[in-house]
Amino acid sequence: MSVRAANHPADVVSKEVLSAELVRLRLRAPEFRTTGAPDEWVALTVPGQFQTRYYTVRAIEADLLTIDVVIHEHGLVTEWAQTECVGDEVTLSVPKGSYLPPEDAQWVVLAADLTGLPAVGRILETEPRPVLAYVEAPVGTEEAYPLSAPVTWLPAPASGSELAKTVEEIDFAATPGYFWMAGESAQMRDVRRWSRGRFDAKHMTAMGYWSGARGRQTRAVDPGPIYARGRAAGKSDAEIWADYDEARS
Ligand SMILES: Cc1cc2nc3c(=O)[nH]c(=O)nc-3n(C[C@H](O)[C@H](O)[C@H](O)COP(=O)(O)OP(=O)(O)OC[C@H]3O[C@@H](n4cnc5c(N)ncnc54)[C@H](O)[C@@H]3O)c2cc1C
Repeated sequence: MSVRAANHPADVVSKEVLSAELVRLRLRAPEFRTTGAPDEWVALTVPGQFQTRYYTVRAIEADLLTIDVVIHEHGLVTEWAQTECVGDEVTLSVPKGSYLPPEDAQWVVLAADLTGLPAVGRILETEPRPVLAYVEAPVGTEEAYPLSAPVTWLPAPASGSELAKTVEEIDFAATPGYFWMAGESAQMRDVRRWSRGRFDAKHMTAMGYWSGARGRQTRAVDPGPIYARGRAAGKSDAEIWADYDEARS
């Protein structure tokens, strides 16, 4: 099935301003079918646009989906979410998820900036293992965004993110576990570099959710040929990531 054929409509039924940086939207999406992954996301297309942006499905109740939109300086969805968007029809892709602790994982560590907070919220509600979670967020988010379990709140810098520094200071248990993180792409790249020799690909997932360098980049690196070359050479996913990071730096 092509992605286009799998796209389906949804109606915005409510909008709630949680804080200066977060807007919660509820979408009626009768054709949505969950993957079951607690970090699942959809590509969202807002009215009058053809470009998509990715948003985590924070919650599902019958045919109602909740998504939490981070409001940043400027952006396509950022701007739309601040309009009177209740009643708008949007398009959603089929969902995908990445959160997959291996069977031997005895604990989970989560680290995220504000864009990863919706996924952290849903993971905390479903993960049976002991979880330690670190969230970098503006002051006041803690009160605005109740969670089902405690997390360590880290103050967000005035711009960008410093999540990689935090991760390097975490005292990870020596037993097998699962480390999941999501946030700014350059931070994720730094963490992937740091993680080599500490975590293999099964025990760690680091997802770049947005790029602070977008718009300033003069040269993008196409991951396709790097991936194809790596596979042809029999490299593991971790080795291919390393090649990709190297090419981008
Ligand atoms: C799997 C996945 C799940 C995601 N889940 C969520 C979610 O639940 N909630 C959420 O809000 N975001 C989420 N994101 C991130 C979101 O897709 C991006 O932040 C997206 O670029 C926002 O779109 P926009 O139209 O507002 O801004 P864009 O038009 O994409 O960007 C405009 C400018 O803003 C900058 N920018 C983009 N995002 C941010 C940011 N967060 N902070 C500061 N500057 C930024 C860009 O570099 C660009 O210069 C997710 C991303 C992925 C890949």
